[in-house]
Amino acid sequence: MADAPEPMHTDILIIGAGPVGTTLALALKDSPWSITLVDQRPLSAQAQDPRALALSHGARQLLAHLGAWPTAQATAIDTIHVSQKGGFGRTLMHKDEQGLPALGYVVRYKHLASALQAAIAQQARCKVLDETRVTQHTQDAHGHRITLSRQGQEHSVTARLLIHAEGTPGDDPGVQVDDYGQHAVICDAIPDRPHGHRAWERFTPDGPLALLPLEEGFSIVFTVPPAKADALMAMDDQAFLQALSTQFGSRFGFTAVGHRDRFPLALRQRKELIGPREVWIGNTAQTLHPVSGQGFNLGLRDAWQLAQELLSGTEDPGEPKALQTYADARRLDRSGGAFFTDKVVRLFSNNTPPLRWARGLGLLGLDLCPPARDFVARRMIWGARAWP
Ligand SMILES: Cc1cc2nc3c(=O)[nH]c(=O)nc-3n(C[C@H](O)[C@H](O)[C@H](O)COP(=O)(O)OP(=O)(O)OC[C@H]3O[C@@H](n4cnc5c(N)ncnc54)[C@H](O)[C@@H]3O)c2cc1C
Repeated sequence: MADAPEPMHTDILIIGAGPVGTTLALALKDSPWSITLVDQRPLSAQAQDPRALALSHGARQLLAHLGAWPTAQATAIDTIHVSQKGGFGRTLMHKDEQGLPALGYVVRYKHLASALQAAIAQQARCKVLDETRVTQHTQDAHGHRITLSRQGQEHSVTARLLIHAEGTPGDDPGVQVDDYGQHAVICDAIPDRPHGHRAWERFTPDGPLALLPLEEGFSIVFTVPPAKADALMAMDDQAFLQALSTQFGSRFGFTAVGHRDRFPLALRQRKELIGPREVWIGNTAQTLHPVSGQGFNLGLRDAWQLAQELLSGTEDPGEPKALQTYADARRLDRSGGAFFTDKVVRLFSNNTPPLRWARGLGLLGLDLCPPARDFVARRMIWGARAWP
């Protein structure tokens, strides 16, 4: 009988070649380590993802530094208008207050994924295996032995560090889940006048409604309870646009709407970010409500910080000290992002009169107090810790 082939060795195995896993691989491009990225889907599936992402100025800087900023496909956000339906108070943030060329940018997931894939394809020491599944996994003190299934064949791989970047986790006892009882219905919509690079965040008792300027129109994130999401999904375009106008108000109308998709929303927080020679980053570490567009921005900072800790550690990428430093360094930004989005959603998604008044005063106060506005804007742009 022939001997089993020797396992392939990679220093770092990243499971999940989504935007966060790929960013990490790129951030490690100058490291001495061999890197393998595996994804269970064909890479071309990322072109079907319907999401549009609002990215902060800090995220743009990081992606540009890695050679993966989709320049031609990003729409700048110059101002952000925040208001509540059925109550007074509003806040306006402007890029000039921050001295930045834009407060943020809106990019389609597919364009971001394509820029990242193009950049990683140029890295000879990083191997990307799509349509590949992990079927077995064992571990000892020196690393992991993993069986990958690809095109009907099994391959054995050893790795010194295993990184999870698989996106939103399913049932997992290591993850705490708090359901929002809300679904996001997303689509593109064309307004009856130019968007003027303004993003709108409107809080309604059903949940937040976001209009993000994207190309010639808006990317809509319409958050509602599940039964209302069923109804929104079933409506014809005319009825949907009417529902949108009812929630948004009469500032402007819409002339056309694109295909709709929906996402159930829950806060998912992994209790432990690291294990022996193992790390979790991006949505698999924390999945947030999309309000104020924090999720990918946070995942990007996970990837960047992990790369910095590994690069400043020893020759062994799985060294416990570097992993622990990473977990400690991410605590404030992760918990801050989760706390901020969670409290905003819970405080604003109701119709209680005293809360409506308190919210109105809060929005007014923020509008009249530049230092408070500056604090919120900087938190959204740079995360809990200023980057870089
Ligand atoms: C409606 C909505 C709007 C959003 N808007 C914003 C926004 O405006 N701004 C923002 O910053 N964030 C936003 N987010 C969050 C953002 O989409 C995520 O934070 C981001 O996509 C996470 O990237 P990721 O790489 O961690 O995960 P993903 O994008 O989910 O990628 C994970 C990859 O892992 C692969 N995979 C999964 N399981 C396995 C496995 N077992 N083996 C191998 N591969 C696997 C998948 O095929 C996929 O390619 C929004 C989310 C939603 C739902």
